[in-house]
Amino acid sequence: MPKKKFSIATALANLVVYAEKTFHANRFDLIYANNQLLSLFSLPEPGEADKTLPDFQSGIIEPIIEYAIEEGLCKPEESLLFETRILGIVMPPPSQVISTFDAIAATDGIKKATDYLNELSIHSNYIRMPDINKNIRWTAPGVKGDLTITINLSKPEKDNKQVAMERLLPQTSYPKCKLCIENMGYAGALNYPARQTLRVIPIMLNDELWHFQFSPYVYFDNHCIALSDEHRPMAITAQTFTRLLDFVDLFPHYFIGSNADLPIVGGSILAHDHFQGGSKVLPMLNRPAKKLFMSHAFPDVSIAVLDWYNSVIRLTSENRPQLEKIASYILQNWRNYSDEANGIFAKTSEPHNTITPIAAYNEESGYSLYLILRNNRTDEAHPYGIFHPTEDMHNIKKEGIGLIEAMGIFILPGRLFEEIRDISDILTGRKPLNFAELSQEDHKLFKHMGMIAQLANDYGLNLTDAAAEEAIVGYINNTCVKILNCTAVFKDTPEGNIAFDTYLKKMNFQQL
Ligand SMILES: [Zn+2]
Repeated sequence: MPKKKFSIATALANLVVYAEKTFHANRFDLIYANNQLLSLFSLPEPGEADKTLPDFQSGIIEPIIEYAIEEGLCKPEESLLFETRILGIVMPPPSQVISTFDAIAATDGIKKATDYLNELSIHSNYIRMPDINKNIRWTAPGVKGDLTITINLSKPEKDNKQVAMERLLPQTSYPKCKLCIENMGYAGALNYPARQTLRVIPIMLNDELWHFQFSPYVYFDNHCIALSDEHRPMAITAQTFTRLLDFVDLFPHYFIGSNADLPIVGGSILAHDHFQGGSKVLPMLNRPAKKLFMSHAFPDVSIAVLDWYNSVIRLTSENRPQLEKIASYILQNWRNYSDEANGIFAKTSEPHNTITPIAAYNEESGYSLYLILRNNRTDEAHPYGIFHPTEDMHNIKKEGIGLIEAMGIFILPGRLFEEIRDISDILTGRKPLNFAELSQEDHKLFKHMGMIAQLANDYGLNLTDAAAEEAIVGYINNTCVKILNCTAVFKDTPEGNIAFDTYLKKMNFQQL
């Protein structure tokens, strides 16, 4: 059968039918959306949809974008921006999504409501699952629980032309940051994601307006974000615990955590108060206690030192007010706690101690708060941070170790994918090992020189492909465990364990 001639009117009609069926968009909104599409594509009247709807991505979206590029409606490098724009037109408006979410929550429960928003996010390409599925993910075995390692290939690679054009774009101050609520509906630019398909749900945390949305990056199942309505810096305070626990009251099927509020030990966005959460699949959440403590001042709370790579206090209780009080007490103590013999200085010219807090609810045990003790001090010997991966690990991970990594899910840069292949070529003998060449700073394996030298020394240069891959993956796995150990303020050594116990005893906690 000859290929049917492409008709933009039919493709747009198919898109409207897709929206009706998939987004359950309301008829009035669709009549309105249809006219916006006709205007955008300069069509006098709508076409007729196909009887059988073609595949959404390859049969509807891609042909529309190709047509738009051919007709000069968008430049090739703007195709993602244009796609988001047309999908934003056919999506239910924000207020409609909020009422649908609330209606589902009222009749079928909150889990069904979050499932609805998550599916909407996927079907509208706000979350690009085909791209997320390109990520390479594996489990790294570790003595204190397995880690999950992800090589992040889902962020679209920018070509040189795009990078060059970005430099010419004016810098604006709107939206104030990539988290601000003003992103909803924002058209974006080559250097800023389009957000016409972003939909958020308003929630109240500690009597304050916040918003709930899914993360487009899906670092784990149901990866979601809660952000304050106000653009204000991250701050870990007593109120943080109240907000986190309010969140798990609203969404008991998700955990929620906040990045710390200091650089090096925080996340990539410190300028806007926000949390990250999702399904309770992060390795740290499923670890047992290493030691148990109790406190006469907070008798309803079980206190545990978690059997995990970094220094975590887990507090569990069904008595929420008492749990909040003990968490604030520990925060206040930790902010001012120094143990010079173990390198912990609460302050120099600036504060260094802070906490990465995480909350979860469990029907059997009640509320849990996990407090990861952090310190961001640097010194001459450790310019990147004393409790931070040392330079020999920066070829794998250099950025701050935030909440998600501290809980055992490592997101590694996409460049590693190609670099692993190149290192594999050396270990299998396909390419000669030439240290003179590798030691050139502009060589793309320059940063891996130490790793290559060690692997060559341990395994030789005549490996099979499978053995080379195993050796490299093993090296990365060990490095991720080492990175987590670096972030521990109290090391898992006899001295470190005594120091951790001393700190807890100073707060009048007694070991059970
Ligand atoms: Zn902001």
